Amino acid sequence: MTAHDPSLNRRGGLLGWFGLGSRDDGASPATQSTRTVDRRQSARDRHLDEIGAFLSYHQLEANAQTLVVASNYLTGNDPQVVRLIDRRVQAREPVTLDWLEDALAEEGMGEEAEMLERLMQRLEQGVEEFGKTSRAAREATSAYHNELTREAGKLEAVPNTGAVITELASITKAMLKRTVEIEKAMHRSEEQTRNLKHKLEETRRSAEEDHLTGLPNRRAFEARYDAEYRAARAAAEPLCVAFCDIDHFKRVNDTHGHDAGDRVLKLVAENLARISNERCHVARHGGEEFVVLFRDSTIEEAFEKLDRLRAQLADRHLVNRATDVPIGQVTFSAGIADVFACGDRRLALKAADAALYRAKTDGRNRICVAEPDEAKPSQLAA
Ligand code: GH3
Ligand code: MG
Ligand code: MG
Repeated sequence: MTAHDPSLNRRGGLLGWFGLGSRDDGASPATQSTRTVDRRQSARDRHLDEIGAFLSYHQLEANAQTLVVASNYLTGNDPQVVRLIDRRVQAREPVTLDWLEDALAEEGMGEEAEMLERLMQRLEQGVEEFGKTSRAAREATSAYHNELTREAGKLEAVPNTGAVITELASITKAMLKRTVEIEKAMHRSEEQTRNLKHKLEETRRSAEEDHLTGLPNRRAFEARYDAEYRAARAAAEPLCVAFCDIDHFKRVNDTHGHDAGDRVLKLVAENLARISNERCHVARHGGEEFVVLFRDSTIEEAFEKLDRLRAQLADRHLVNRATDVPIGQVTFSAGIADVFACGDRRLALKAADAALYRAKTDGRNRICVAEPDEAKPSQLAA
C-alpha cells in the first residue's frame, strides 16, 4: 500500500489531512473565508499531532498502515480498532502491528463463525416449530375427520330424509373428502420438515468438516480450541497444541500430480487421526498443515504421542497407486507448545508455529518443542 493508494484516501482520508489529496466539499477555495481555512488548518495540525503522539507512545513506525490505524483509533471511525486497542492498553500489552493484524483477523473469524451459528440456530428453531405446528394441524384434522364420519353416518341413518337433510349429507361428504386431502398435505409437510432438519444437520457438519480428509476444518478447530482452553484452565489441566506440516509436499504434487498429492494428504490425515479421541483433537488447518490439540497431556506426553506417529509415517514407503511409481518416504515436521506456559492460546499458536519453523530449518522430519517465550514480540523481531 503506497501513500497514493486511492483506498487509503477513501478509508482514512489521510491524503486529505496531509493536504495531498482533494477532499471535495463543494466549495471552491476562493469562496471560503480565511477563517474557515485557518480553522481547518489548525484542526488538521492537531490531528497530525495526535497521530504523531499515538505512534510515538506505542513505538510504532510511521507507515501507511500505522497511520490509518492511528487515525481510525483517534477519530473512532473504526470501533473494532478502538475496542481492541483499549483492551490491549488496559492489559498493559504492547500495541504492535503484528498483534493488531492477528487480533483483527481472529475477531473477523470469530464473528463469522458466530453469525453462522446464530443463523443455523434460528433455522433449526424455525423448522422445529413448523414441524410441531404441522403435526398438531394434522392431528386436529384427523380428529375432525373422525367426528365428521360419525355425524355423516347418523345423517344417513335418519329415515325418510327430506331435501334439507339430503343436502346436509352431501355437504358433509364433500367436507370429508376435503379433510382427507388436507391430512395428506399435512403428512407431506411433516415429511418435508424431517428432510429439512436432516439437511440442516448435514450443512452444519459440512461447514465444520474438511472435505478432502474428513477431518474437522480450521473453523471447527478454532471453536474447539476456545472451548478446550476454557475447560482446561477451569480444571487446571495441561493443554498442548501442535502444528504439523508435511515436508516438501510441493515436490509430491510436482512429481506425481495433484491427485496423488491429495491421496498423500488423506493418508497423513488418517495417520494423525489415529491419536484423536475426546481428549485429543486433530484438524486440518489448511493446505498441508494440520493442528493437534492435546487435552490433559503434559508437553512430554504430547510430544511422545506425536513423535510416535511421525516415526511410523516416516517408516513407510509410499507408491503412487495410479501409476505404481514409488513416492517414497513422506514425513512431517511439527512444533508443539504448552499453551498455558506460553501465556494465552494465541501466543501458544504462534509459539508452536515458530517451533515448526525451527523443525523445518533443523532438517525436517522432527518435532520441536516451543520455548515458552518463543512467540513474544522481542523474540519474533530477533
Ligand atoms: P516445506 O517442507 O517447507 O513445508 O515444503 P512444502 O513443499 O511442503 O511447502 P510449500 O508451502 O512450498 O508447498 C505446499 C504445497 O502444498 C503447495 C500447495 O500446492 C500444496 N497443497 C496445499 N493444499 C493442497 C491440497 O489440498 N491438495 C494438494 N494436492 N496439494 C495441496
Ligand atoms: Mg505449509
Ligand atoms: Mg510443507
